[in-house]
Amino acid sequence: MDNKRITIAFGDGIGPEIMRAVLRILQAAQAPLEWDVIEIGEAVYRRGVLSGIPPEAWDVIRANRVLLKAPVTTPQGGGYKSINVTLRKTLGLFANVRPCKAYTPFVASAHPLMDLVIIRENEEDLYGGIEHQQTVEMTQVLKLISHPGTESIVRYAFEYARAYGRRKVTCMTKDNIMKITDGLFHRIFNAVAEEYPDIQAEHQIVDIGAARVAAQPETLDVIVTPNLYGDILSDVAAQLAGSVGLAGSSNIGREMAMFEAIHGSAPDIAGKGIANPSGLLQAAVQMLVHLGLGETAQTIENAWLCTLEDGIHTADIYREGLSQKRVGTEAFTDAIIERLGRAPERLQPSRFRNTGIEIRFSVPRPCCKELVGVDVFLDWDESDRNPDVLGRKVEALSGNGLSLRMITNRGVKVYPGGLPETFCSDHWRCRFLAQEGQKAEYNQILDLLRRFNEAGLEVIKTENLYTFDGVPGYSAGQGE
Ligand code: NAD
Repeated sequence: MDNKRITIAFGDGIGPEIMRAVLRILQAAQAPLEWDVIEIGEAVYRRGVLSGIPPEAWDVIRANRVLLKAPVTTPQGGGYKSINVTLRKTLGLFANVRPCKAYTPFVASAHPLMDLVIIRENEEDLYGGIEHQQTVEMTQVLKLISHPGTESIVRYAFEYARAYGRRKVTCMTKDNIMKITDGLFHRIFNAVAEEYPDIQAEHQIVDIGAARVAAQPETLDVIVTPNLYGDILSDVAAQLAGSVGLAGSSNIGREMAMFEAIHGSAPDIAGKGIANPSGLLQAAVQMLVHLGLGETAQTIENAWLCTLEDGIHTADIYREGLSQKRVGTEAFTDAIIERLGRAPERLQPSRFRNTGIEIRFSVPRPCCKELVGVDVFLDWDESDRNPDVLGRKVEALSGNGLSLRMITNRGVKVYPGGLPETFCSDHWRCRFLAQEGQKAEYNQILDLLRRFNEAGLEVIKTENLYTFDGVPGYSAGQGE
C-alpha cells in the first residue's frame, strides 16, 4: 500500500513532547504514513502573523489535506486569532467529532459504560455571527441551516458509525418549535438514514436528549446535531465521561481534516517529561480511521487500552490503589509500544474498519419557487403599543395585490384579534400576502414599502415569503 502523506504541527508547551511520543508509536505500529512538518503557533504569532499560520504552512496543509496538530498557545490580546477557528473556517471543516468514553475503573467516571460520540455541525446554525440590534428593545441572530450543510454532517455521522462499528445514530433537534430550520435537519436525517439500513436511526428532541446524555449516556452511541446543541452537549458529555485529558477530537471538511487533543498546551508542565500523550494519540487513531487505516488504528488503540489496564499511568491519571506504576511521557510511550498486538481484557477492545470515511452530499433538485408575499418588520412605539392602532394604520396600506394577513409581536399574533394580556415590544412583524393562489411581484413589495415610508412607519427589515412546490417556506404566527 502507498504511504499516505500528512501534515504535522508540533505546537507549543507540551505539544512537542506529546507529538514525539505519538510519532514513535505510529512508527512502531508501522503506520503507512509520511509527514511534512509545519510551524504554527506561538513563535509565528510573535513574528507578527496574527493568524499564527504562515503562508508556507497553508500550502503544505492544503496539499496534504490531513493535519495532526499538537496544542498551541494563543497569546492573550494583541489581535491574535485562534488558529483553530481560522483553520475550521478557512478549510470548511464542517464536522466536529468528539468521542466521550469512560475508562472505568482506570479513570473515575460516574457512568462506567458511557461510550458515545458527538458529531456536531460546525459551520452553520447560530454561529454565522449575523446579529443585529433593530430597535431599542430588540436584538436578533440569524439561524442558518442548509440542505448541503445538513446532508454533509448527517451522512458523515452514518459513515462514521460504519467505520467505527457503531450501531446507532441519534439525531437531536428542536423541530417541534423550529419546524423549518431544525425540521430540515430532521427530514434530511430521516432520508439519509434509509440508505444505512445496517445502522439504527432515532430522533430525539434535544431537551429530552440532553437529559438522556446526562442521566443515561450508556444508552447513546453516535449523536448528530446542529452547531449550538452540539457545542453544549459535547462539553457536558466530555465532563461526564471523566476522561477530558484522554480525549482527541477531529474537525472534518469535504476536502481537509484536522485531528487534535482536546486539552491545551499545558505550559505549567511543559518540558518536564510528565505530560500524558493520550489525547493526541486518540486524535491520531481517529486520523488513521479517517484515512482508511482502521487496522493500524485498532492495533494502537488496543495497546493503549492494555497500558491503561495494566495500571501504567502518567501523573494526571495516577490513582493510589488503582494504578500500578507512575510513569513519564517516555515510559508511557514505551509501554504502549511494548503492547502493540495485544488486546485489553477488561476494557472493551476496539474494532475499526478499513473503509475510510467518504464525504458525500447532494444539492437539492430545483423546484418551483414562487414569491407570495412579504413580512415587513417595524420599529413602532406609539399609542401605548396598542396593536389595534397599528393594525388600522397598516391595514390601510393593503392594496396593489398585497393585503395584510396579520401582525405579530415576538412571534405571537396580536392583530387582528389579539389578547390584551400579550406583552408587546417595540418590534412588530406585518405579514402581507398575495391573494390565494396568486403570485406576488417584487415591484408590488417595493410599492408597499414606499407606502409604509409615506405613512411614517419605520421599516427595519423585510423577509420575502416564498412557496417551494406549493409548500410555504415560512412559519405561521403563533395563534394564527
Ligand atoms: P490546558 O488544557 O493546557 O491545561 C489545563 C490543565 O490540564 C493544566 O493543569 C495542565 O497541566 C493539565 N493538562 C493538560 N494537558 C495535559 C496532558 N496532556 N497531560 C497532563 N496534564 C495536562 O488548558 P489551559 O491552561 O487553559 O490553556 C493553556 C494554553 O493552551 C492556552 O494558551 C490556550 O489558549 C491553549 N489551548 C490550546 C488548545 C488547542 O490548541 N486546541 C486548546 C485549549 C487551550
